[in-house]
Amino acid sequence: TNEFAFADDPFANMPKLRARLFANENPLGISASAKEAIIKATEIGNRYAWMEFGQLKSLIATDDGVKPANIMMAPGSSDILMAAADHFAKGGGTILTSTMTYDDLLQRAEKFGAKIKALPMTKEYKFDLNAIKASITPDVKLVYIVNPNNPTGTIIPTPELEAFIREVSPKVPVFIDEAYIDFYEPADRPKLGKLVAEGMNVILARTFSKIHGFAGLRLGYAIAQPDMLKILHAYTNGDFAVSITTLMAGIASYKDIEWQNHCRAENAKARAYTTKALADLGYEVIPSATNFILFPIRMKTKTFEGQMFGQGIGIQTRDFNGQPYCRVSVGTMDEMAIFMDGFKKVVG
Ligand code: PLP
Repeated sequence: TNEFAFADDPFANMPKLRARLFANENPLGISASAKEAIIKATEIGNRYAWMEFGQLKSLIATDDGVKPANIMMAPGSSDILMAAADHFAKGGGTILTSTMTYDDLLQRAEKFGAKIKALPMTKEYKFDLNAIKASITPDVKLVYIVNPNNPTGTIIPTPELEAFIREVSPKVPVFIDEAYIDFYEPADRPKLGKLVAEGMNVILARTFSKIHGFAGLRLGYAIAQPDMLKILHAYTNGDFAVSITTLMAGIASYKDIEWQNHCRAENAKARAYTTKALADLGYEVIPSATNFILFPIRMKTKTFEGQMFGQGIGIQTRDFNGQPYCRVSVGTMDEMAIFMDGFKKVVG
């Protein structure tokens, strides 16, 4: 083993789990169409991927009502988050966000000199957009919002989010991390691309890691103004960071609406089952629009986590305001039954 790699990564020596529910992955894998595309890609792995990223950008641009020039591909949306963190941390300044949200961008920006101002969420565990608006001062360089949010699973009503972007983005860039957007029912999905098309200073970050099951294959993209993409591109290799194999699989999966609908429906079923099973035990689950669930637990996070992992059940735990919470990803129905069984053993 490489003694330098992952020296402090808790997942590096992960035991074999019966239910892997700690990373919000797609338990159903990648689609048959994506697998087929990967095999085809082996024949042209010697070629640079100009045509393929162009094709995928065109498909996304059409759906989002933007131009291909508004899109930059990346090996997962993390690269977009890191590029934004590096850029907006430069020279200090503040990034405005909320507590109880995904903090990869925030931690990176802090490391490079940014101050992070995280405002409390509403009592429904949502971003408090009014409080954020009221906190915009000249030192705020970026507003970071995650919708649907991780780890709370909550969503901001689309009209409120749109109005917020219209009001705030002329003053300060707004970053909307849409990693879990594919779990909206298609008719309810926010269409923030139209705000980019109108020229607003908003950056949308999307990923194939969730409903498409590409967490290991690595594919994501940003939608923003071309000038902003040019800035972010200075911190990444942009489109060319993605392999032709991943792009071809991504194109196949993107077109495979049937597979996406199947994954969304299976997720909703297993999520409803788990939410009800926890509620039946008296646990108050935060209503989730995503492929994970957050709920308060009644024991110390480390004790709970140790006892769950000890049974081969991977979950995550967090403390917010001194209250311990469990975040469990939505797996298959079988995995959720294993989770509930293990949970009952731990809580007695
Ligand atoms: N943003 C959010 C809110 C996430 O939860 C994740 C991963 O779980 C990411 C971004 C990054 O995902 P990826 O780099 O796999 O696209």
